[in-house]
Amino acid sequence: MKKILVTGGLGYIGSHTVVELQNSDFEVLIIDDLSNTTMTVLDGITAITNKKPNFFKIDLKNKDAVANFFKENKVDGVIHFAASKAVGESVKQPLKYYENNINTLIYLLQEMEQNKVKNLIFSSSCTVYGQAKVLPITEKAPIKIAASPYGNTKQIAEEIIADATKVSDLKAIALRYFNPIGGHDSILIGELPIGEPQNLIPYITQTAAGIRKELSIFGGDYDTYDGTAVRDYIHVVDLAKAHVVALQRLFTKKQKAALEFFNIGTGKGSSVLEVIYAFEKANNKTLNYKIVSRRAGDITAAYADTTLANKELGWKSELTLEDALRSAWLWQEELKK
Ligand code: UDP
Repeated sequence: MKKILVTGGLGYIGSHTVVELQNSDFEVLIIDDLSNTTMTVLDGITAITNKKPNFFKIDLKNKDAVANFFKENKVDGVIHFAASKAVGESVKQPLKYYENNINTLIYLLQEMEQNKVKNLIFSSSCTVYGQAKVLPITEKAPIKIAASPYGNTKQIAEEIIADATKVSDLKAIALRYFNPIGGHDSILIGELPIGEPQNLIPYITQTAAGIRKELSIFGGDYDTYDGTAVRDYIHVVDLAKAHVVALQRLFTKKQKAALEFFNIGTGKGSSVLEVIYAFEKANNKTLNYKIVSRRAGDITAAYADTTLANKELGWKSELTLEDALRSAWLWQEELKK
């Protein structure tokens, strides 16, 4: 049984990935500093899979603690999720983002090299493409100057990993996520936004639950079919499964370059209004919303060309937008309890 270190394994995407890994017979060791999640997520994972992953409360900025972990635990691969992820906060606190997202990656890579751990899956983002000229977006689309320190940390991290693969045995896959939404069917784990949500789906579910008065649609004058911005919303369970197949690609030595990039999305774009209508229909609810001005830094439209992931990873998204919005609403109801 291969042992996988999952950093940020109690986070939103991390926890769903741990479930899929355990269901695929990987042994999981989680490192999380609990800065943006709670220990209840570990109980959720355990209840779903009937197996408690090993948990280590470690802040990856603590270089000695990371070194100690690798000394005491032999792992075959690493999936690195741990990072700060609020775009707006990153503009206000850039150094925190560079420290949390870049320093930690360097420590992790140093320890992986030291301990001969050669396989890495990295959480990247479609933000690296900015507003792409051509849609859908392929992995060959040019990388644009990042619009936020958060986005920049993803670009820099990809470059650091690329450089590391040139001088070591490191083999890595960067998965560039589009917009992950929804939660596990069991309603035992899901997205846990702290404070006022920045992302569309938690804002929608909190509005439907009466926690927020009204959803603001940021911009009704985009050059899209209904004037609202378009994104590729992917069910987090489909996204989690992409990590399992990417890991298997590394272990079976199928990769065609030391660092590979894959877009992970559905391939379908949905506008904000379409998402609202789909939510209303899937859950039989009506939502209060109004159109306000655009949010700084937002792009008009992004959706993935997933041909490469389909072909090389043998992966494609299976769940629908409605599935994701149903699970997001059930999770919102669960949080009330
Ligand atoms: N959005 C919105 N109202 C909100 C939050 C988001 O209209 O309260 C829009 C946002 O402008 C974007 C889309 O929903 O067009 C997805 O935003 P999100 O922050 O979820 O993800 P992003 O694509 O920015 O990473």
